[in-house]
Order: sequence, then structure tokens, then C-alpha cells
Amino acid sequence: SSRWARAMAIVRELEEKCGTPDAKLKQVADAMTVEMHAGLASEGGSKLKMLISYVDNLPTGDEEGVYYALDLGGTNFRVLRVELGGKTGGIVSQEFAEASIPPELMVGTSDALFDYIAAELAKFITEEEEKYHPPPGRQRELGFTFSFPVMQTSINSGTLIRWTKGFSINDTVGNDVVAELTKAMHRQGVDVNVTALVNDTIGTLAGGRFSNKDVAIAVIMGTGTNAAYVERAQAIPKWHGPLPKSGEMVINMEWGNFKSSHLPLTEYDHALDAESLNAGEQVFEKLTSGMYLGEILRRVLLRMAEEAAFFGDEVPLKLKIPFVLRTPDMSAMHHDTSSDLKVVSNKLKDIFEVSNTSLKTRRVVVGLCNIIATRGARLAAAGILGVLKKMERDTSTGVVEKTVIAMDGGLYEHYNEYRKCLENTVIDLLGGDSSSTIAFEHSNDGSGIGAALLAASHSQYL
Ligand code: ADP
Ligand code: MG
Repeated sequence: SSRWARAMAIVRELEEKCGTPDAKLKQVADAMTVEMHAGLASEGGSKLKMLISYVDNLPTGDEEGVYYALDLGGTNFRVLRVELGGKTGGIVSQEFAEASIPPELMVGTSDALFDYIAAELAKFITEEEEKYHPPPGRQRELGFTFSFPVMQTSINSGTLIRWTKGFSINDTVGNDVVAELTKAMHRQGVDVNVTALVNDTIGTLAGGRFSNKDVAIAVIMGTGTNAAYVERAQAIPKWHGPLPKSGEMVINMEWGNFKSSHLPLTEYDHALDAESLNAGEQVFEKLTSGMYLGEILRRVLLRMAEEAAFFGDEVPLKLKIPFVLRTPDMSAMHHDTSSDLKVVSNKLKDIFEVSNTSLKTRRVVVGLCNIIATRGARLAAAGILGVLKKMERDTSTGVVEKTVIAMDGGLYEHYNEYRKCLENTVIDLLGGDSSSTIAFEHSNDGSGIGAALLAASHSQYL
């Protein structure tokens, strides 16, 4: 029918506009490298902030003692305690508590958000065994993983540049987030010293290095996306402080804000961006990360429903609700291996109240998942290639240095098709025998452990 033909035309157009041939990915990678240089050259020199983390030494494995971490970065919030055994002891024990951030706190006041976090920490500490209590006169020490763009002023202070990932609390922007947390802890009666402020990429890098000495890059693919890597201190023109003894400095790229004319943007992306809380920002993140992939799919399906009656004569009302289709649901549909695509059928029914879809319709939905996820994963891979080029660890330079990329985030962890596509694309783009020099490692909760490790190496008692 002509309706079906219209629907297929929309699919074809999407596929074409989302295309990421290798040549395009190489342009994206080169643009990433160029922006990295610009961001390191001067403050505000690029959309890439290339933030100096004040971490000039990654964990050695010798860290010892009981340390805490708080991880605030998106949908979930975690409190963690790690017991480190020193040189040969590794991680003796760890324990965590998890809570989701109530949506109203994401757009409320700074005090309300930080009070909530401090109260969760208070609860964790109150409930813990006697043996973890610090000796008299000694404070508990904590690494704060805060995964939003922060202008770091020391290893344990930094001001919030802007919120991302659906958070929008005006009175935090421009303030020191460690001071905000410390004030809230006082209000909640908690005596804990924040000795390290990091974001999840830095934490993941630190946690990854602890378990594998070849880890030099960390990439998060979760609600949002970001990357960090080890840079030569000499290669950071905007750094005017003393050169660290190690000669190295960890850089938090904030690559979610990367933007380039080479990025394949569609009308759906433009509309999503325009209607977002942070229009014009986090363009790379909006193409690649978990908060947005399902929403892009919803927008395509809505257009197909409106212009080609894809789900019948009526446009399903639920289809008009922004963010109603979450990426885990998209992932479940994408991975549906049943012959009649039962999972797709159920998801369409549960989420959009569309019943009796034909197998043909469901197949198209799976195809759309594939188009959107593939574009995201391949662009993320191009970003990684850009970082490897900057580090001169792409194989074309002939440097054979083993590089392990610590990966974390719910999208990477659970969306298999996405993960496979990302990893394969990096290896393909590098070419040669790169699969022997580049490896990916899932750093499970590396960011929390990494923050605790950095709290340990920056302890006031050392
Ligand atoms: P955050 O990035 O908020 O710190 P996570 O790293 O746990 O948290 O990532 C959570 C995100 O991962 C979710 O917002 C979602 O987009 C994505 N995600 C979680 N589960 C799945 C899944 N099964 N399939 C695809 N994406 C998932
Ligand atoms: Mg996280």
C-alpha cells in the first residue's frame, strides 16, 4: 500500500542520513583530535573542555585502608566502602548501597539534592559494622564521583560548569560541589572528609589502572557519555602550574559536548536537541548515549505514525510522550531473537498501547533500533580513535604500545549489539593487527572503586 511505501521511505531516509562509512568516521576522529589540541591549548579554546583533573598519579596497587566513595552521575546514586589491603592485598572487601535520584530533586534546589545524598551516606555509615569505624581522632575519607562538567580547582574542589543528563538546578552552577556536599553532610550530622573530587571517567581510569597497568583511557557509555585519558603534562599549554613529578596529568575530556560538521545529524536529532534542557550542548552525547537513543527511536516512530499511519489510522497517544521509550526497552527489542518478535510486540503494547502489530511492522522496528544504535556505537568508536591518535597510539605511527580502554556504563554493559559494534569498529578503523595492541575491559563499578583509591592516595594522613 502507499502507506507502507511512505513508511519505508522514512526508514530509508533515516538510514541514509545516519550513515557512518569509515571515511566519515575518520573525519570525525580527526576532528576529535583537533578539538583535543584546541581544548588543551587554552581555556574555552574548544567545545571540548579538556578539564585538568589534578590527578597526576594513578593508583599503584599499594593503597591501604578503609575509604569511601559517593557516586552521583545520572539515574542512580551509590555509596561505597572499599577496604584496601596494600601491596599484595588488593581489595579486601567492598560494600555498597544504591538509591535512585527522585526526579523532582534533579530540577529542585541544590540543598535538597545534596541533603538527600548526605542522608544516604549518613544511613550507610550508621548501619556499618564497628570494625569499620575510624579510630578516635581520625576522620573517614571519601572520594566524590560527580559526573558533570566541573572546573577543578584542586584535587578536592571544583565548581560546576553546567548540569547535563536531565539535571537542572540553577543554584549549584558556579559553586564548589565539594563545599555543597560538605555543608549538607554537616546539616545531616556526618563527619567525613572529601579528599578527592573526580568524575566517573577519572574514577574508571583509576579503578581500571589498579587492576591492569595498561589502562590509559576510560570511556563511559551510560545515561551520558564521557572519556578521560592520560596526557603528557608538557602537552597541556593551558596548564601553568608546576609540572607534576610523574610528567603526566589525567584529562577529563567532557567529550559529550563534542560537535563537528562531520556528525551525521537528522531532523530527529535537531528536534530532540531544540526541545532539550540543554539545547545546542552535548551534541555527541545526544547521538550516542543511553538517555537519548530510545528517544530518537520514539521520534522516528512518531513521524511514521503521523505521516504513514504506521500503527494504524490513529496515532497512539503514548507515542507523543517525550522519553517514554527508554533505551533499555529499545535494547530489548533490538535483541529479540524470537521468530515472531514477541518482545517487540510486547514492548509496543506495554509502552505505546499498540496491539496486534504485524510481524512485518515489528521487523521494521528492529531495523530502526539497529540504524540508531549502529550510528551511536560507530560514532563513539570514532571518538576513541581520535583519542588514540592524540596519544599517538594508533598503529599507523608504528608504536606498538599495549593500550587497554576501561569501559563502563549501563549502555556498554547491557546493550550487547551496541558494545560489539563499538569495539569492532575501533579495531576495524585502526586496521593492521590492532586487535593485539588494543583491548577493552569492562571496569565494573571502577568509578566508585577508583574514587575510593584516589581518596586513599590523597589522604590527609599520608
Ligand atoms: P549513569 O550513567 O546514570 O551513571 P549507568 O552507567 O548505570 O548510570 O547507566 C544507566 C543507563 O544505561 C541508563 O540510563 C540506560 O540508558 C542505559 N541502560 C541501562 N540498562 C540498559 C539496557 N538493558 N540496555 C540498554 N541500555 C541500558
Ligand atoms: Mg555512572
